[in-house]
Amino acid sequence: MSNEMQGYVQNAFEYARSSCGEGRVASYIPALAQVDPKKFGIAVALSNGEYHCAGDAEEPFSIQSISKVFTLTLALERLGNTLWESVGREPSGSSFNSIIQLETEGGKPRNPLINAGAIATTDRLIDNRSVDTTISEILDFMRESAADDSVFIDGIVATSEAGMGARNRSLAHFMSAFDNLRHPVETILAVYFQQCAVAMSCSQLARAGLFLALSGKDPSSSNQLISSEHCRRINAIMLACGHYDNSGEFAFRVGLPGKSGVGGGILAIAPGQGAIAVWSPGLNQAGTSLVGSLALEHFAAAAGWSVFE
Ligand code: GLU
Repeated sequence: MSNEMQGYVQNAFEYARSSCGEGRVASYIPALAQVDPKKFGIAVALSNGEYHCAGDAEEPFSIQSISKVFTLTLALERLGNTLWESVGREPSGSSFNSIIQLETEGGKPRNPLINAGAIATTDRLIDNRSVDTTISEILDFMRESAADDSVFIDGIVATSEAGMGARNRSLAHFMSAFDNLRHPVETILAVYFQQCAVAMSCSQLARAGLFLALSGKDPSSSNQLISSEHCRRINAIMLACGHYDNSGEFAFRVGLPGKSGVGGGILAIAPGQGAIAVWSPGLNQAGTSLVGSLALEHFAAAAGWSVFE
């Protein structure tokens, strides 16, 4: 298995590398615009404990919206089904920061993986606690699932996004006007901007996502980190909603639950098999890593990983 799997990773890396530099690095968060567009890494963490990597797989990058998977996990565990009072579970078919549906749908965002839905989820996760307590919980969970205490929040990225956060503030105020938020907008966004600024490498991220491939179990101890029911549901939401208005295309091409971030990372889950993290900062029009998607498509086809077979 080892050599075969390393071959799949290496081949996917070589295949996608020729497109490096295509796509556009996110520039609306100024700190992200500084990142070298030629960076490219891939890491696969298998359910049997093996790791396989290629390229810049050990270099931390800004996980951005991939953090929404982890805050959804925590919120679902903390609140159970009452979370769905605040946010839905339908694909939006709209861009990541769209406000249009909020107006026609009473301020309830379509799903927890678009910006509005993630802000509503973070609001519920706060649950009358402080910003610092909530952020510590998120960071601790990311460190625990990555089995690595060096996972950190990049303060420069957090400040950079907070400085340019008019769009996310608008989404939050709009939801607040519909009475769909329980805490002050600036409290929620103080958590949201920091969760998006968590920095992880592909290796750390693949390890951190492994519990979602293992029915919610911690890969080392086999302890149930989250319930298997929640695990299935998070994977379903990732498959249907993980790439904004590119979610159908990603499901068609890759066939796995996934979540993109505008930092150029993607986390994909192959239930029962493992987790894959890719990073390449050039994005397609929907804000998903262009080279990362190509690598995932190639890898999943070669390894035969798909939720549809
Ligand atoms: N922090 C970004 C934002 O809120 C996340 C978007 C993304 O990664 O897709 O705009």
